[in-house]
Amino acid sequence: MFIKEVNFYRSVTLDSQDVFFEKKKEIVFVWRSNVGKSSLMNTIFWKKDLVRTSSKPWKTREANLFVVNNKYYFTDLPWYWFAKLWKDLKEGLDSLISWYLEERKHNIKYVVILVDSRLWTQEKDLEMYKYLLEFDLPVLIVLSKIDKLSNNEVSKSLASTSKVFFGQKIIPVSSSTKDWIHELEKELKLVLS
Ligand code: GDP
Repeated sequence: MFIKEVNFYRSVTLDSQDVFFEKKKEIVFVWRSNVGKSSLMNTIFWKKDLVRTSSKPWKTREANLFVVNNKYYFTDLPWYWFAKLWKDLKEGLDSLISWYLEERKHNIKYVVILVDSRLWTQEKDLEMYKYLLEFDLPVLIVLSKIDKLSNNEVSKSLASTSKVFFGQKIIPVSSSTKDWIHELEKELKLVLS
């Protein structure tokens, strides 16, 4: 078990200019709501509900930082995409993401992108992925909720995901059964060492 201790540290909004001065190495978890991000973070933290799913994800405009082992930040970065309905909110979120990644890019060791293993990658996913690539940060794809699929389906999902996210490392996991969580922990430990 790589994560021995984890505590909530702070929330950061666009006004929190001092975040630039935080010196710890960082892993950022990002993607749209309902993909299993909070569950995954709680699973690797070995906590039940330290990371909370927002009941109003479209209103969330802050990044939440957790201190791991007193040494690293693991950050929950929200993203939402109902752009048509919530244009101003989407713009707010986009600016939080781009500002945050720019401010923290020298410390960020991985941007962990969660992809639901049951859903084909959608046009919007690709847009977001391309947008994230522009920051030139190392990316790790985590294929979530694999307990919902048969082994054969997991293989298919992996094959299609590796076509879409060509060249990126992909780890399939289940927060429910803890399958492959150990592999994910190993990878995070490695990149932070
Ligand atoms: P978030 O909005 O990305 O933080 O997503 P949540 O972690 O809140 O998960 C969204 C829904 O998916 C919840 O109902 C979870 O219980 C469910 N979920 C998350 N991870 C898994 C998983 O590994 N397996 C299954 N079967 N369900 C999951």
